Amino acid sequence: MGAAVNGPASHSAASDGSLAIRTENLCRYYRMGEASIRAVDDISLSIRAGEFVALLGQSGSGKSSLLNLIAGLDRPSSGSVIVQGNDLARLSRQDLAKYRLRTVGMVFQSFNLIPSMTLLENVELPLRFAEVDRAKREALCCHALDRVGLTPRLRHRPSELSGGEQQRAALARALINHPRLLLADEPTGNLDSHTGTEIMNFIREFNESLAMTVVMVTHERALAERYAKRMIFLADGKLVESEPALGLDAELTRGGAL
Ligand code: ADP
Ligand code: MG
Repeated sequence: MGAAVNGPASHSAASDGSLAIRTENLCRYYRMGEASIRAVDDISLSIRAGEFVALLGQSGSGKSSLLNLIAGLDRPSSGSVIVQGNDLARLSRQDLAKYRLRTVGMVFQSFNLIPSMTLLENVELPLRFAEVDRAKREALCCHALDRVGLTPRLRHRPSELSGGEQQRAALARALINHPRLLLADEPTGNLDSHTGTEIMNFIREFNESLAMTVVMVTHERALAERYAKRMIFLADGKLVESEPALGLDAELTRGGAL
């Protein structure tokens, strides 16, 4: 796989209009006995580098299925996902693993931290997979956890922390390899509104200061309107509408990126 996906060289590609993600006639059907559920049904969309997009829709509309396809956690039934010019279906297993490790950072509603590990160890895990020198790892982790205000909690296990702290740790873990894409599946779904706001402010900061492309699944329209620059609506696995969120700059509105 080319450096375009993995390399830190692409860090300068902020919201310069280049495409981060494109899906073409993307489908994901789940077989349930005789029946087939069209979780993602012929979705073609484009997301530019540096955009902050919210995927909205009712429960069961296909949001997580779509996000998982973009994350390379699942393979399409048909159609394609193209990230920074690379068709994920053409990547070898090894390159797909690399893509998930280095290009994508992911956070989930349920945090998904490993309960037996301290925060430091959780955040360190992607660095171990990426074969970063042991000597460098602790400093990188401490810096990442400091960034989300968790320095006093480094040696704690997830069960000893609040939901907000766990999600902050999950964010630090998602960002540790400097991914270009942050994919968030209902990141505030298990949090109260104050803590949710805190998490969203971090996500916005990463979008703006690190120029990360953010795709966030949510069913809360108010949250999407407040933070995202574009909203994409799904219903029954289909794209029903894409509209700019409030406060979108005119350039993007004209761009018609979808
Ligand atoms: P959302 O995230 O919008 O709630 P999902 O993407 O989780 O929606 O699900 C879309 C549809 O696909 C739903 O009807 C759901 O039941 C179905 N679905 C999701 N995952 C699976 C699976 N692993 N096996 C079978 N059906 C699934
Ligand atoms: Mg979901």
